[in-house]
Amino acid sequence: MLNMIKQWFDPPMFEGDGEKTRQAALLTAILTAVWFYSVILILIEFFGENFSINLILLNVFGSAFLLLLRKWLQRGNLILVGGILEILAFVWITLAAINLGTIRTPTTGNYIVIVIVAGVLFGWKGFLFSTLASSMAVLGLIVAENAGLLPTPDYTVNLTQWFTYTGLFAVTGGLSLYAMRVMQRALSRAEKEIAERERVETERKRAEEALKDANQQLRIHLAEIEQLQSELREQVLRDPLTGLYNRRYLDEAVTREIARSEREGRHLSVIISDIDYFKKVNDLYGHQVGDRFLVQIASLLKAYVRGYDVVCRYGGEEFLLVLPGADATSACKRAEIIREKCAELFIQYNGANLQVTMSFGVAAYPTHGGTAEEVILKADQALYRSKAAGRNCVTIWDEGMEQASA
Ligand code: GH3
Ligand code: MG
Ligand code: MG
Repeated sequence: MLNMIKQWFDPPMFEGDGEKTRQAALLTAILTAVWFYSVILILIEFFGENFSINLILLNVFGSAFLLLLRKWLQRGNLILVGGILEILAFVWITLAAINLGTIRTPTTGNYIVIVIVAGVLFGWKGFLFSTLASSMAVLGLIVAENAGLLPTPDYTVNLTQWFTYTGLFAVTGGLSLYAMRVMQRALSRAEKEIAERERVETERKRAEEALKDANQQLRIHLAEIEQLQSELREQVLRDPLTGLYNRRYLDEAVTREIARSEREGRHLSVIISDIDYFKKVNDLYGHQVGDRFLVQIASLLKAYVRGYDVVCRYGGEEFLLVLPGADATSACKRAEIIREKCAELFIQYNGANLQVTMSFGVAAYPTHGGTAEEVILKADQALYRSKAAGRNCVTIWDEGMEQASA
């Protein structure tokens, strides 16, 4: 039973249409209030002094019709129910005013309720139409009263006035409350939306920061990898004992330099040097002493070449120098200087000063050969000649050597 009553009071819900649900809630409230009002009227008429069976029957019919409207409302016929209610209210207020014989605030004030409800249900058109209709009705009543068409007003105040005033207060207050609630709901929805947007924005910013950090880390790692790669490349191309370039590097460097010399029409010289009787050094003083000589001679070679010359460890105790732009004569001079400096170099071993000498062979591009292999081969032949000539000297390649080696 309680559930049934509750169900009757509960406004119908329209899934996904908040506006329609709100309008239905408003109409349900109005229907319920008017229904109670008509029931109270029936009771007043039944127990009151002016008992009129016709009036009671009219009110009974009215309350039954309200129940029917409630049914239509639940089926979703909002416009129909709202329209009928508006028209009924309008007619009722106007008839009440006619009956009173004059414009009285509690009765004509009810037009305000019609205007508000019409505005809520039918938008600005409903608001405009109901305002016009109410205004015309009031004008008509004033004209009719002045023309003496209305009954003589009866100003005695009784319970009906109290009842009407209370109804007017309740309905106007209720409608204001309803409007406030709708606004509050919209406001809280907007606030929630703003908060959600802010949350998403913060989240997005956080993700962006994290991405930036990750990118930064990636860049650092990439730089580290590049650094390691270049170190590795250096390691692959360098001799670990002397730090000079190795033969692998020489092969590509000498080919590149000869190609450049060819393009620029310049000379290029190659010097090959070999430590004399180095085997003896190892045999007499040990490999470590031999290594110390190799390191010292490597530093000496680096100190006596220009920045763009290439110095590399060609074999065990052989070194090769590529001198771009130098012809055989100036390369020979350079080799002479290195030879002298090498002869002056000594290493201390058990209180004794150990010394070595070096032999040199020089060949030049394009004078002695047109390719890297040819020039290196000829420098090697010249070195052989230095060795044969007694060592500790510099020899430039010449034609005779080719015939000799052939
Ligand atoms: P020459 O060149 O004057 O004809 O005599 P050599 O005694 O120098 O002759 P050879 O070129 O045959 O000997 C080279 C020696 O160099 C052999 C090897 O013991 C030594 N050697 C090669 N690589 C290294 C090295 O990395 N460290 C040391 N300590 N010795 C090396
Ligand atoms: Mg040697
Ligand atoms: Mg050798």
